[in-house]
Amino acid sequence: MYSQPSLLPRQDPDAPIRQTDNDAAVARLSAVQKHYLDDLFVKHLVPRAHLQPNRPPLINIGTYIRTRGIEDLVDGWLSSAKKQGKKCQIVSLGAGSDTRFWRIATGPHKDTLIKYVEVDFGEITSKKSMSIMKNRELRDVLGGSNHIQITEGGTVLHSRQYHLLAADLRRDPVDTLQEPLTIPSHGSQEPILSPQCPTLLLFECVLAYMEVNVSSRLLQWFVDYFSADGGGAPLGCVIYEMFGLNDPFGRVMLNNLRARSVTLPGAEPFMTLDSLVERLLKTGFHKGWALTLKEIRKSYIEPEELARISRLEMLDETEELELVLAHYAISWSIFVPTAEDKEKWGDWGLKEKRKHEEEGLSFS
Ligand code: SAM
Repeated sequence: MYSQPSLLPRQDPDAPIRQTDNDAAVARLSAVQKHYLDDLFVKHLVPRAHLQPNRPPLINIGTYIRTRGIEDLVDGWLSSAKKQGKKCQIVSLGAGSDTRFWRIATGPHKDTLIKYVEVDFGEITSKKSMSIMKNRELRDVLGGSNHIQITEGGTVLHSRQYHLLAADLRRDPVDTLQEPLTIPSHGSQEPILSPQCPTLLLFECVLAYMEVNVSSRLLQWFVDYFSADGGGAPLGCVIYEMFGLNDPFGRVMLNNLRARSVTLPGAEPFMTLDSLVERLLKTGFHKGWALTLKEIRKSYIEPEELARISRLEMLDETEELELVLAHYAISWSIFVPTAEDKEKWGDWGLKEKRKHEEEGLSFS
């Protein structure tokens, strides 16, 4: 039967996924404005930052816990490299409007970071490269305009230390990431990503949006690159995402997202922390761990910090906060090619700042 073509413009099915970047950036801005977090750069990457309303306390606390957990892992990685007199690389996949590069490059670990690579959809990277070029504070950290190269119609940006690449992470990395990351170009003898340099992969709320076989292929590609020819440098990985969505809370979350045309094929299969670790071990990482944000809040943040943030805003819904935090996890893993590296990098991970009152927490 003939059906009349719709007169409404058809929405790009990835537009709602890209929109989640704005949600994350606005949440971060709110947590900064309410003094949970320090970030001098976030306002330059959020459009009309001064007009954005603050988020409710529950969201601000969640943003704080997530950021602290990931920050502690990144800091630990940089500290381990520094202790061994090594430089390290960070690759942030689905980086969106994240400011982490600017915070590291102006912080105490700036000399340990040799490369920082961000990847996202071209629509997101072109906006970010434009914001960088328009803003002196962001540009200066990259060495100023004379040291920045914009290519691929504004979607790709290269500088000495920071590289912004456009790719759909669901596509085969052999077709998208291999050439820009592993083949020397731009007059350099070296590829952007050296397999001989300790490297940390960050997936902050991105793998949930793609099928598990697709994200596993991506993880596997990195492990293969670092294990080629008998061994490169240690490769670490940090993933933050929702999990355990097979309960009433999870079903409400999935329905709310579905109403915005967002699905979570990469989160729905993971019911437990163990399953998150297993996924990492299956792609070749040697060791892995996972904690919920609820556990991180309880034992992995300094009590003085928890006391400080508890004074920032009134929170009535502690039970609701715990329920939300129990559905988000940070998992991390390490691939160590040599026995010597196993020892040197063996204690990388989140450290308890406060002992559990009750027994029973065990790492996977
Ligand atoms: N990591 C940033 C943060 O935590 O602030 C942004 C998180 S945002 C929730 C998810 C990001 O992943 C968006 O910027 C989105 O465009 C990106 N993303 C999702 N699927 C992607 C894909 N298939 N390829 C490239 N980027 C993707």
